[in-house]
Amino acid sequence: MKRYFFRTIFLFTVMLGGCFEHKGCCDHHDLPSAATVLKQDASIEPVVIVGGGVAGLTAANYLLQANIPCIVFEGPKPGGALAQSDSVRNWPGVFNAPGVEIMRTLKDQVVLNGGVVEAGMLTAIDSKQWPFMLTLRDEAGSTHIIKTFSCIIAMGTEPNYLGIPGETGKDGYWGRGVTNCAVCDGALFKNKVVAVVGGGDSAMLEATYLAGLAKKVYVLMRRDVTRANDVRKINTLKAMSKVTFMYNTEVTAVRGNGEVVADIEIINNKTKAVSKLSVDGLFLAIGSTPNTKLLQGQCDLDKAGYICLTTGQESSVRGLFAAGDVCDPNTKQAVTASAMGCSAALQAKTFLEDRGYQSNQTTVDVEPVIVAETKASVVVRSKDKHDDTWVPKITSLDHARELIENVGNKLMVVDVYGDFCMPCQKMMPIVDELAQYYDHKVCFTKLDIASSTFDVNEFSQLVKTERIMQVPTFLFIKNGKVVQRSLGSMSKGEFAKLIEQYK
Ligand SMILES: Cc1cc2nc3c(=O)[nH]c(=O)nc-3n(C[C@H](O)[C@H](O)[C@H](O)COP(=O)(O)OP(=O)(O)OC[C@H]3O[C@@H](n4cnc5c(N)ncnc54)[C@H](O)[C@@H]3O)c2cc1C
Repeated sequence: MKRYFFRTIFLFTVMLGGCFEHKGCCDHHDLPSAATVLKQDASIEPVVIVGGGVAGLTAANYLLQANIPCIVFEGPKPGGALAQSDSVRNWPGVFNAPGVEIMRTLKDQVVLNGGVVEAGMLTAIDSKQWPFMLTLRDEAGSTHIIKTFSCIIAMGTEPNYLGIPGETGKDGYWGRGVTNCAVCDGALFKNKVVAVVGGGDSAMLEATYLAGLAKKVYVLMRRDVTRANDVRKINTLKAMSKVTFMYNTEVTAVRGNGEVVADIEIINNKTKAVSKLSVDGLFLAIGSTPNTKLLQGQCDLDKAGYICLTTGQESSVRGLFAAGDVCDPNTKQAVTASAMGCSAALQAKTFLEDRGYQSNQTTVDVEPVIVAETKASVVVRSKDKHDDTWVPKITSLDHARELIENVGNKLMVVDVYGDFCMPCQKMMPIVDELAQYYDHKVCFTKLDIASSTFDVNEFSQLVKTERIMQVPTFLFIKNGKVVQRSLGSMSKGEFAKLIEQYK
């Protein structure tokens, strides 16, 4: 069915020009007036939001409500950190919901308000000139320069690593038993032995989630007490026989068989005794670092890298705002990130208005080919299509065997996914599109790691034999053998390259 929608085009007029002022770390520059700049280049964005978590999406909703168009670049983690939580119990008005659902609704709200959510990743920002110059990399790896009058940085934080042998890198077991997200990868450790590193609330959260799946959970803490505040959770964990708290314990190495984790080396930092702990999985919950490397020298950061705020959500540079965990070393909660997103948006609006900007809105009919249309709802639509046509679900081990037999010497691609996993959802429309494109040439199918149709033992066996340690995992099967295994999300181009290589 041919569908039309209204695409809103905003025209900006500059009534006042003016010299741009840097408040903090950056030097003052004699910049051309805004009016002059706009005359030379009409494609300047009013606001660009970097980050597709709670803070960024809330900011977008407030700007759109105020009739100010904005683009959100959601980067590597669509939905942000909250999407990792299987159970959010403190989001206002929601008793208990998976984070991924909250974030899906928030993103849909942005799209329905006329916002644009793009997958681009910020790779550089020049805030010493105004309009600011942003360098972004799209999913296909191409670089784009965008100029914007104001920018809201909502890039969140990145979990910390231990920095020990066997953790990451070429010979490391990252994604092959070492991970930092129980909600994302926990289902792969059903009836297995796992260790959680960390003594704070996030470690308790991870351990609680894993205790419902694994046969044994070790909680390893450097100190002799836990730093967590959630006493109820600590007590519940301590009362479980399958959970063991190990204090004064540090992990010094991860070891495996070349494929998956087999054990970890631990040291008691009081007695200095070194020992080996056999585990199948190691979950890191040791804090996080703000994603601000590329802002060094562009605005003031504190010692730990958090963006310093001056007035409200404004950074040390006029027109450059920050919201959420990226400027919040203390609270780091969804509701505070959202509140900061709201404040940043309203301040950006005032900033634009103070410089004489007006948005004159006109509407025109356009075909629904615009990429910016509704990425969030595309995800929802294509999922339905998935289930019915293009990418059928594997329902049992017998079903998988049957499919492999039927495809003969054609390439079969299995998308191992989880409904809760945002990168998996991001990949779904890509998989769907490729499945349509390669119809009859390549067999696409998908496997839900939380599938209720699979026998638990059968499923554990499959996970073990196919070495599935994270989602999404894409298995490329030819003549009954796995010829390629790809972990995590990738661009359509990268995916197509792999298909071409093996088909
Ligand atoms: C497992 C887990 C469970 C949690 N549970 C709860 C809970 O129950 N209740 C609660 O209130 N809080 C919870 N939190 C904390 C909450 O999720 C965060 O405080 C909140 O998500 C912070 O939002 P944010 O928008 O600031 O950052 P994030 O949600 O981290 O979003 C950052 C965004 O920036 C993007 N980004 C990063 N770098 C770039 C780049 N270079 N270019 C473009 N985009 C980029 C990322 O892709 C992401 O979209 C939980 C956190 C975790 C990890």
